[in-house]
Amino acid sequence: MSQEDKEDGVTYCPYEDCRLKICCDNLACGITRCGRRTDTNQPLDPHMSQENSEQLRRDGKLEGCGRPIEMKLVDGNVLYLKCDWSKQHAT
Ligand SMILES: [Zn+2]
Ligand SMILES: [Zn+2]
Repeated sequence: MSQEDKEDGVTYCPYEDCRLKICCDNLACGITRCGRRTDTNQPLDPHMSQENSEQLRRDGKLEGCGRPIEMKLVDGNVLYLKCDWSKQHAT
């Protein structure tokens, strides 16, 4: 049963009203944004401002919620946590 809710390398957005599948292995700074641009098919800039993210959403060019996610390495597992817009590099 536990295999079903935890596929290898697949994680879901920590915001309950989003739950977009995310696959982010960029632990360089520990902060990212949920989602990707549907116009360029690129992931969001991990430091995108709230203003820019909400603008993309209004324009219908955002898949996902665009909110900030903090990645933390705990006991060899990467945790994806909700975090504040003001949070920059987590290191
Ligand atoms: Zn950074
Ligand atoms: Zn999301």
